[in-house]
Amino acid sequence: MKVTFACPACDQPDAVLVDATHDWQCSACDHRQHFAAADSALPDCVVCSNHEFYKRKDFPHTLGMVILVGALLLSTITYHSYEKWWSWSFLIGSAIIDGGLYLLVGDVVVCYRCNAHYRGLTASDAHQPFEITIGERYRQERIRQERLK
Ligand SMILES: [Zn+2]
Ligand SMILES: [Zn+2]
Repeated sequence: MKVTFACPACDQPDAVLVDATHDWQCSACDHRQHFAAADSALPDCVVCSNHEFYKRKDFPHTLGMVILVGALLLSTITYHSYEKWWSWSFLIGSAIIDGGLYLLVGDVVVCYRCNAHYRGLTASDAHQPFEITIGERYRQERIRQERLK
């Protein structure tokens, strides 16, 4: 299992494998942290020890946009040269590719508090899609902490 997270001290992004216990040191600020081997059920976040997560599709948004914009351009060009069937093929084709990608990509489990992203695990029933009420609670918490600084 791999976790992508921001350094708790300086927000520098990094990724580590958490299949075994090891110590991590930030490459930017030398902050040290001990990571316990993560349980595959992920009851606690290895970065901030929080226990609330949400899951979402690990969809590459940039790739999705590139396919969509590309199809729009191609269909506009073909539309202008009166090749309507090609226009429709590009539009429908891109929708099918995007849909297929969406089904193919796995889940990523995200920590509500520190926004750490966990990949390479099977999301369980404990991991539900993002809930705005929980997300809002953590957003308020972050705002309070910013004010305290
Ligand atoms: Zn750091
Ligand atoms: Zn966390």
